[in-house]
Amino acid sequence: MKPSLKPPFNPSAKALKAPEAVPRPAFPVRLKPDAGVPSATKLPASSARPAVGAPTGLKKTTPPAPTRPGGVGLDSQAVRARMVAKLAAQGVSDPQVLAAMGLVERHRFVDSALVNQAYEDTSLPIGLGQTISKPNVVARMIELLRHGVAGNAGKLGRVLEIGTGCGYQAAVLSHLAAEVYSIERLRGLHDKARENLRTLRLPNVHLLFGDGMMGYAKGAPYAAIIAAAGGEAIPAAWIDQLAVGGRLVAPMQIAGGAQALVVVDKTPQGVRQTLLEAVHFVPLKSGTS
Ligand code: SAH
Repeated sequence: MKPSLKPPFNPSAKALKAPEAVPRPAFPVRLKPDAGVPSATKLPASSARPAVGAPTGLKKTTPPAPTRPGGVGLDSQAVRARMVAKLAAQGVSDPQVLAAMGLVERHRFVDSALVNQAYEDTSLPIGLGQTISKPNVVARMIELLRHGVAGNAGKLGRVLEIGTGCGYQAAVLSHLAAEVYSIERLRGLHDKARENLRTLRLPNVHLLFGDGMMGYAKGAPYAAIIAAAGGEAIPAAWIDQLAVGGRLVAPMQIAGGAQALVVVDKTPQGVRQTLLEAVHFVPLKSGTS
């Protein structure tokens, strides 16, 4: 029988157990270009990409080039370090998540008119009525993903992201996972993400165009699944494609049209779901356009 994940949830499952004690990093965080990431989060030297049937291509040969003017000071690591310090103050405690958030230049993913807001803790429009999530929400969700049932805070295996949007979260995930499959249903955003990520040369990110409500079976099973859009229920395909021992984090509609974050752990004993705080994500829609 397919797990039913419609509300109401088990009222006793109000909160996740606190993650294993993780030492807080000292601040201000120093994020040197090459020395700032713990070795466990470094990108793989070579891309051991499995063959997949959908478009993936992030060409490795393209030289990196700045896509935004540097004059506003946003290329400065100090700006990102300040954002990271704020995330830590807001309760994000996983040093590897903080390091990854400090590595990805968020201003590269927003329109030039919005670059000055790129490191504020705010969601921003990315076109076609969609938004890039607040840094705090991105960090929170990825932190939840990394502290799944196994209590394992090591590098994630394969991750499926539903809702590529501008590609920002996929870029953050690329530093924390072996492989990232990210699917988007709007062609315009899929193309935009491809363009945004092209110069970053992240060989472990695979961009897919399609309806993520069906997941992406060719990459399954996934160690983790993360959704950036919320529907009325967690699609059964996502649970099917989650590995045993894996964790899913997604927004979902609850009573009264509100949304909350849901964590689903797939254990050898069955599926366990936990309802967390209220969130505001764009709707999960079926089909492509
Ligand atoms: N992670 C993104 C956030 C994008 S907003 C970022 O970093 O920018 C959520 C995205 O989910 C939107 O682009 C929306 O088009 C997409 N989406 C909604 N329903 C979807 C579906 N069924 N399959 C794939 N993408 C979907």
